[in-house]
Amino acid sequence: MRPLVAGNWKMNGLGSGLSELSSLKEALAASPPPCDVLVCPPATLIAQADALVQGAFALGGQDCHSRPSGPHTGDISAEMLKDAGASFVIVGHSERRQNHGERDGDVAAKAQAAWRAGLTAIICIGESEAQRYAGDANQICAQQIDGSVPGGALAANTVIAYEPVWAIGTGKTPTLAEIAAMHGHIRTTLARRLGEAGRGMRILYGGSVKPDNAGEILNLPEVGGALVGGASLKAADFLSIIEGLRPS
Ligand code: PEP
Repeated sequence: MRPLVAGNWKMNGLGSGLSELSSLKEALAASPPPCDVLVCPPATLIAQADALVQGAFALGGQDCHSRPSGPHTGDISAEMLKDAGASFVIVGHSERRQNHGERDGDVAAKAQAAWRAGLTAIICIGESEAQRYAGDANQICAQQIDGSVPGGALAANTVIAYEPVWAIGTGKTPTLAEIAAMHGHIRTTLARRLGEAGRGMRILYGGSVKPDNAGEILNLPEVGGALVGGASLKAADFLSIIEGLRPS
C-alpha cells in the first residue's frame, strides 16, 4: 500500500492560511510525491480548500459525530465532511479522548460513521507517558485497537495512526527501535483481529514528526506514513517531510 503523509492542522487556520495549501498544490504539481498526501484543516475551511486544491491532494476532517444528522449542537457529521470535500476523517485523536472524554466505543462508532459516509477513517491510538514507563504500552495499544477498530474494518477504508500521547506537540519521540517494535506489535494485533485486512492496513506514526526526523521514521518497517501536527501548518515543512519518503 502506498504510504500516506497526513497533516492535522488542529484548531489552527483562517481563510488567509489557505495560501499554504496553494503552495503545497504547486509544489506537488512540480514534483509528484512518493506517497498519498492528505491535509485535515479545520472543518470551516474544507469547502474552500476543496475548491482551491481541486484534487491535487486529499482533504479530511479532524473528528465527526457518529450520527448523520440531528439535535447535536456544534457537532459535524461524516456526511457533512464528505459534502464539503473531505475523503478522510481522523477519529479518536488523543486530544479528543482527553478533552472530550471519548472512549474506545465512541471512536468505533465514529469510524463506522465515516464508512457510512464514504470516508476513510484514520483511527488514532497511543499510550500515555505513564503507561509507557509502566511497561504497558503494548497492552494499551492492543486494547485500543480491540475497542476502537470495528470488526468490519478494511485496508481500503481504515488507517491506524500510532501516536504516543507524550510525543504529540512535545518535540519528544520514541527511539527508532521503539517505533519499529510498536508498529510490529500493531501489525500483529491488526492481523489477529482482522485477518487479511489487518495485514494490509496502513499504520501511520504520529508525534513530533519534523523535517529532520521524518526520513528515518518513515523508512522503518511497518511505518506506512505519518500523521503530522505542527509541522503540517507550513507547506515548506510539510513538503520536506513528504520528501523524507524519497529514496536517497
Ligand atoms: C498530532 O496532533 O496528531 C500530532 C502528531 O502533532 P505533532 O506533530 O505536532 O506532534
